[in-house]
Amino acid sequence: MYDFIIIGGGIIGLSTAMQLLQRYPDRKVVVLEKESALAAHQTGHNSGVIHAGVYYTPGSLKAKFCLEGNRATKAFCDEHGIRYDECGKLLVATNALEMERMKALWERSEANGLEREWLEAGALREREPNITGVGGIFVPSSAIVDYSAVTAAMGREFRRLGGEIRLNCEVTALHESATEVRVTTAAGDFSTRYLLSCSGLMADRVVRMLGIEPDFRICPFRGEYYRLAPEHNSIVKHLIYPIPDPSMPFLGVHLTRMIDGSVTVGPNAVLAWKREGYRKSDISLRDSLQTLGYPGIRKVLLQNLKPGLAELKNSLFKGGYLEQVRKYCPSLDKADLLPYPAGVRAQAVSRDGRLVDDFLFVNSARSINVCNAPSPAATSALPIGRHILETAAERFGLGAGA
Ligand SMILES: Cc1cc2nc3c(=O)[nH]c(=O)nc-3n(C[C@H](O)[C@H](O)[C@H](O)COP(=O)(O)OP(=O)(O)OC[C@H]3O[C@@H](n4cnc5c(N)ncnc54)[C@H](O)[C@@H]3O)c2cc1C
Repeated sequence: MYDFIIIGGGIIGLSTAMQLLQRYPDRKVVVLEKESALAAHQTGHNSGVIHAGVYYTPGSLKAKFCLEGNRATKAFCDEHGIRYDECGKLLVATNALEMERMKALWERSEANGLEREWLEAGALREREPNITGVGGIFVPSSAIVDYSAVTAAMGREFRRLGGEIRLNCEVTALHESATEVRVTTAAGDFSTRYLLSCSGLMADRVVRMLGIEPDFRICPFRGEYYRLAPEHNSIVKHLIYPIPDPSMPFLGVHLTRMIDGSVTVGPNAVLAWKREGYRKSDISLRDSLQTLGYPGIRKVLLQNLKPGLAELKNSLFKGGYLEQVRKYCPSLDKADLLPYPAGVRAQAVSRDGRLVDDFLFVNSARSINVCNAPSPAATSALPIGRHILETAAERFGLGAGA
């Protein structure tokens, strides 16, 4: 019998597993991952940004964990010899409306405790000669990293502390009783005192396996990218972000310097027809029916029909995609956009038709389930893991640990 089984070999599962053994070194812990490698889904298909925490509602878990996670991730990388680049981020306004929205972001970033600098058009041009705008905000603490490398280091640390990782081990059924949770997998059955689920795009399905009817469903949104042709690898010195529409904060493609020296453009956000489908042509009938069959998701899609169709058009036609980035980087043209792999975001949608904004956890007597952990959850993985352990200590009566 295990003390803890953790479902999911993404960054949240591994951060939780590592901190669990750091705090309770004598517990027997296993991570079960259905793929043949760690970080196979969201953690290995993202922008690689260590976010600073500009946008999030002050007081929310996202705001708190992002700020803490920014420092904790860099400290973890320093400790484990993982390269990151504190290149900073520039939010760029291109017209009067965006300037107004930028002022609101300036206030919000103050409330979130961030260091930042207001740039007039001239100062913006000086910092980034290839970027055009009427003003900007510079956030120095934003950085870039390879989150697969961070997850691999967490996995090594977890194993060094005596933890076990089983790959190719998909959890297919769960049964919670008064004394244990029985876990059925493709590679045999296990039992555990406590279960922690960090299963990303499958979070609602795992909760349902426990016999809990979730009041949300995971809606998969593809995030499609392009990579700039290598001659443009020095086109920007910072991460360049447009000013988002506050009602659609995750829309708006950015120019992202990657830790390998390349620059990506993206991601957009289009409905995915398969939860773990990375190609445009990937379709799962089961996933599509579950997505469209959920009243909350249908409501979100209908309420956002216009921006949704615009995203779809720009996904199908490179010209539309390019126009979004040319607003602030006018020298780019179609031939500069080269293919780059997409990612799929796990976004929880409530039954009444809201995109769940904050990180969300659902608990049972013997389990804690991470149910909404979209961006900035890679940045926030260390504080999220710590939060899970604090909840476990309280709910399961584990004591404070080491
Ligand atoms: C396009 C995109 C860009 C992003 N950019 C950023 C960014 O720049 N900065 C940032 O901080 N965040 C970013 N994010 C968000 C970030 O990547 C995620 O929030 C984070 O990786 C979530 O980690 P996770 O461990 O919860 O999920 P995942 O990495 O998806 O891991 C979940 C794991 O659970 C496994 N699993 C699921 N079901 C089962 C089962 N039944 N049995 C066994 N295993 C199972 C899966 O195989 C998977 O490996 C981005 C996300 C996307 C998609």
